[in-house]
Amino acid sequence: MFYFDAHCHIQSKCRFETAQQLNVKYFIVNGTHPNNWKEIQKASEEIPAMLPCYGVHPWYIDYLSGEWERLLSAYLNRNPAAMVGEIGLDGSKPDLLRQSEVFERCLQLAKVYHRPVHIHGHKAWAKIADMLSCYPDTVFLLHRFYAEEPMVRRFLKFKNAYFSVMSARIAAFIPPERVLIESDSPDKCRRLENVIETADRLGYDWKQLDQNFMNFISHVPAVHARLSEELFR
Ligand SMILES: [Zn+2]
Repeated sequence: MFYFDAHCHIQSKCRFETAQQLNVKYFIVNGTHPNNWKEIQKASEEIPAMLPCYGVHPWYIDYLSGEWERLLSAYLNRNPAAMVGEIGLDGSKPDLLRQSEVFERCLQLAKVYHRPVHIHGHKAWAKIADMLSCYPDTVFLLHRFYAEEPMVRRFLKFKNAYFSVMSARIAAFIPPERVLIESDSPDKCRRLENVIETADRLGYDWKQLDQNFMNFISHVPAVHARLSEELFR
């Protein structure tokens, strides 16, 4: 059995080391803007437990140069282990139209390179479901998912939907084999090892969660092969 963190952000090396001492073995680390992609790339080369994602977070679309798509494509092309994230929409922020354009371009690149995506959808889940319906084969994690039951049912119709949840009320609607656990650290001072507490609080069994994690990662064959070797040799 091992712990993992399905969604966090770049932080200091010692944070990763502390979490690893508590048996948090793998961290999916999300980029939010081209400004931090290089740092993520460097850190993931140094810390094999870090699984890198490159994306544009809907909060940071104002500061994009015209080069960002070419750059994202280059990062994905160069690294078959990379995923796409954090991308998505945020209904509490302005300019949903521009957010949607950026999100769409990220979904297209993820499709071209066959990579899973990590989605932020605060107050915008319906629009996200609409947009994802054009990408039926895309594997995605809805991070910090929070919505009413009809919306949960809508997402459950996607064959490759995974959810990370923080609330027991939402967890009750989601089949346990579709759940991944995250810290979103260092947001709101959360620590990487918070995943252990979150899973406990929501009553998840890590055996099931590990299986879900490996199923999700099986969509990135380069990573899946390495992890299987490390975990089950
Ligand atoms: Zn995040």
